[in-house]
Amino acid sequence: SKWVYSFGAGHNDGGADMRNLLGGKGANLAEMASIGLPVPPGFTITTEVCTAYYDNNQKYPPDLAPQVKAALARIEQAVGLTFGDKHKPLLVSVRSGARVSMPGMMDTVLNLGLNDATVEGLGEASGDARFAWDSYRRFIQMYGGVVLGVDHHRFEEIIEHVKLDAGVTEDTALTASDWHRVVHGYKEMIQEETGKPFPMDPEEQLWGAIGAVFGSWMNPRANTYRRLHDIPATWGTAVNVQAMVFGNMGDDCATGVCFTRDPSTGENVFYGEYLVNAQGEDVVAGIRTPQPMSKARAKPGEVAMETAMPAAYAELMEVRRTLERHYKDMQDIEFTVQQNKLYMLQTRNGKRTAAAALRVAVEMAEEGLIDRKEAIKRVNPASLDQLLHPTLDPKAPRVLLSKGLPASPGAASGIVVFSADEAEIRAAKGEQVILVRIETSPEDIHGMHAARGILTTRGGMTSHAAVVARGMGRPCVAGAGGIAIDYGAQTLSAGGRVVRAGDTITLDGATGEVFIGTVAMVEPMLSGDFATLMGWADQVRRLKVRTNAETPLDAETAKKFGAEGIGLCRTEHMFFDPARIGAVRQMIMASDERGRRTALARLLPFQRQDFIDLFRIMAGLPVTIRLLDPPLHEFLPHADGELEEVAEALGTDVEAMRRRAAELAEANPMLGHRGCRLGITYPEIYEMQARAIFEGAIAVAKELGRAPVPEIMIPLVGARRELEITRAQVEKVAAEVFEESGTAIDYVVGTMIELPRACITADKIAGVADFFSFGTNDLTQTVFGLSRDDAGKFLPAYVDAGILPKDPFVSLDVEGVGAMVRIAAERGRATKPGLKMGICGEHGGDPASIAFCEEVGLDYISCSPYRVPVARLAAAQAAL
Ligand code: PEP
Ligand code: MG
Repeated sequence: SKWVYSFGAGHNDGGADMRNLLGGKGANLAEMASIGLPVPPGFTITTEVCTAYYDNNQKYPPDLAPQVKAALARIEQAVGLTFGDKHKPLLVSVRSGARVSMPGMMDTVLNLGLNDATVEGLGEASGDARFAWDSYRRFIQMYGGVVLGVDHHRFEEIIEHVKLDAGVTEDTALTASDWHRVVHGYKEMIQEETGKPFPMDPEEQLWGAIGAVFGSWMNPRANTYRRLHDIPATWGTAVNVQAMVFGNMGDDCATGVCFTRDPSTGENVFYGEYLVNAQGEDVVAGIRTPQPMSKARAKPGEVAMETAMPAAYAELMEVRRTLERHYKDMQDIEFTVQQNKLYMLQTRNGKRTAAAALRVAVEMAEEGLIDRKEAIKRVNPASLDQLLHPTLDPKAPRVLLSKGLPASPGAASGIVVFSADEAEIRAAKGEQVILVRIETSPEDIHGMHAARGILTTRGGMTSHAAVVARGMGRPCVAGAGGIAIDYGAQTLSAGGRVVRAGDTITLDGATGEVFIGTVAMVEPMLSGDFATLMGWADQVRRLKVRTNAETPLDAETAKKFGAEGIGLCRTEHMFFDPARIGAVRQMIMASDERGRRTALARLLPFQRQDFIDLFRIMAGLPVTIRLLDPPLHEFLPHADGELEEVAEALGTDVEAMRRRAAELAEANPMLGHRGCRLGITYPEIYEMQARAIFEGAIAVAKELGRAPVPEIMIPLVGARRELEITRAQVEKVAAEVFEESGTAIDYVVGTMIELPRACITADKIAGVADFFSFGTNDLTQTVFGLSRDDAGKFLPAYVDAGILPKDPFVSLDVEGVGAMVRIAAERGRATKPGLKMGICGEHGGDPASIAFCEEVGLDYISCSPYRVPVARLAAAQAAL
């Protein structure tokens, strides 16, 4: 088999369409080379080798070595250097590259091929011994770290020691012989740490680095990242071996990382950072402060690449145009300039904030690079969440602590924690935390994920913290150099002010500001690119999008986000209001129907007003109101003090209260006296609710001159007869109210489909239902036989073990629960063609579940207010 694919110097075996086999980096290196961009020659060892390696006891296929040898020979020939040659040594870089970019894996080993002999050759060939010895020590350091697993502090100690001896403070002041001493120290230390000498044989070095790349595919950090991003372990990683070019051979050399557009805002400007006389890792490492690319973005004291290296910059601008036209997407590129000659080392679709994704998609469609459908597909619906959350209120008072780089937009307040583990632990307890680090590394990913925001004191806009935060949608302030962190004392300080672990700070990722305490926030602006893309999405989607809401605030929010009505109003939520819980409890405590009716009469005006509010907000749109669903004992007080209070208010004693509570207690309340079973045994409850709905609707009809069409929904129906009985109750009340008020309005009565029996007998139920709404929360619970209130304790273990691909309460289990939905939809429509159907379980806001709803042909989805835009976009994508 072919395990190795060459690229560059006119020989390209691969291309961008071979990402699965060559990984993103390898595929794009080959693609760039084949469209004529300057790429140093190299080769890619395929992801299939990684898979074969793990399938085969961590052994390589036998024909891999000869293929690597041949590919290496091709590089040697192309650049006129020889691997391991004393005089003209070829040096290579070794990098990992999976299908998708994946922090957590071994990244890069540079300058591979150096040893005690070739270092001399490099010195001769470059005419710069200092450069040669610096390159050698960098190689030992990287190789020692990532391949041999030596802690990086051990290397730093040795450099510090040599600097102290030489009486200098900066690395740049060290001479060739100083670096020589560093190399010597490194080698001794490595012998001591690993029990073996540092490998001198370039071939051994090469295989060591290749092995480290494959080994890193299964390390815990990579596993965590894969789990968070749903990446299967079977994808494997590729290894890229490429001729070295040097950005650190002098002042006509440079290295940089940039984006073809601004990854924070999406603005169409060349955006990025470069460093003169530096090697790739220096930019990301944040040891020196990188400089901006374009003059327009240079601040006083900064030297833009456009100014310092005009020719290479112009060439790069041309590359930028070529790449965007070719890939039709914003690119994230790495380049090196060696003695004024530009080389491209990487391109990939750039990670971006949700705001940038929106703007780039809309602008590229407007520029004609892509069409509108493509623009819709470009934005990840789940990421819209980032845009829907508040930003700092410009008028709110605030105490500025310091300022860093605006690395990832959005605002966040939270308590300060100094480690990723701590962030994870406290977030799991429901606390909002800000992760504060000098800099972050792939080891911190779990904590970054758990944090509301991230603050670092070192590193630039392309530092690890910045890139990862943008990808995760976490606000981030990076490189806040004015802040000093003391991990030992658990403090951060700036300008004489000290903030301790556990104190609250606020970050503004859009400005880079860090504030002490909490700062008030305001609602987001939903205009501009957001409105444009949403408009395009609305034109292509078939599914209607409604919201689950019962309070006026939620209903208003959802409407602003584009909800086309209410798909689920859980009336029980209205019962907990302090003004009426007393009446609710009185109703529950009543020992007979009369007592219940008295209490319900007290509740009626409240409920009527609830519905008036919703009908007003949703004027002209459907409003689905579900009659009371949960077991009654959920409304009873539990604490002793509270029991007394209620008893007193009701004129009974605590003992009676306790007795009644005990009577109501059930072994399995979720499968007990709830849903329509309540309405059937206590018809007066549903009668009161129906009356409140009709009276409210008529009041609003009079006020607005247009009648709302209430959709009354009966929960937990399992048998047709249940719906018949409850429907008849509703119809009786409707007739009474219409008679009393002299006004009749349209209304419909439907049912939730949330029990397996309802699905199976949907053909019968459909005979008495005007609509179905799938309650996939209860349906998941009952199809799986999995308590929705208890599953959280063990489901994560199930997902980790691969027993279930995802939490079925978050993303619909298409195989099982989905099959039930399909059966119900088919049978329901068999009885009543065109029967209106929707979904109102939590799955209504989950993009994957929405795709399923489209497939089954539901009419609408209903989700919580903040997920409405997510659902609109996901519905559009599902329709494409
Ligand atoms: C459901 O069961 O899916 C549903 C929407 O109802 P609830 O979550 O209120 O039980
Ligand atoms: Mg339910």
